[in-house]
Amino acid sequence: MSSITGQCNCGGITVTVPKDKPNALCPRLPALSASGNLVVDPSELKVTGQPKMYQTEGLSGGEVYRYFCGTCGSGIYTGLEAGSPAFVKAGLFDIGDIPKPSVELFCRNLAAWEQTYPEAQRKDTQ
Ligand SMILES: [Zn+2]
Repeated sequence: MSSITGQCNCGGITVTVPKDKPNALCPRLPALSASGNLVVDPSELKVTGQPKMYQTEGLSGGEVYRYFCGTCGSGIYTGLEAGSPAFVKAGLFDIGDIPKPSVELFCRNLAAWEQTYPEAQRKDTQ
């Protein structure tokens, strides 16, 4: 299986995921606003370096784990409860490696001036 590798701004943390995973845009939720997310099974995610973690509560009341680089502040990935996918920040990868968006999440939060990606499935929440 081919894979792609990305890194944070300072290069202290790298992530490797299988190539061509779904790219979910979540641009409307402030906590996820940095980029789209490649949706991968946590077992498919390889991380080098030591990301820091910020734990918070998700919209559904469940725990959300946001991993980021403690040196440069880049978001790395977001994890949810066990059994849920990891949402790896698409902005970590080279432009040519990022698959086109296949789904847009949290569309209920669209600002009046925002446009959706025409080929992506739209969901009001996650
Ligand atoms: Zn960094």
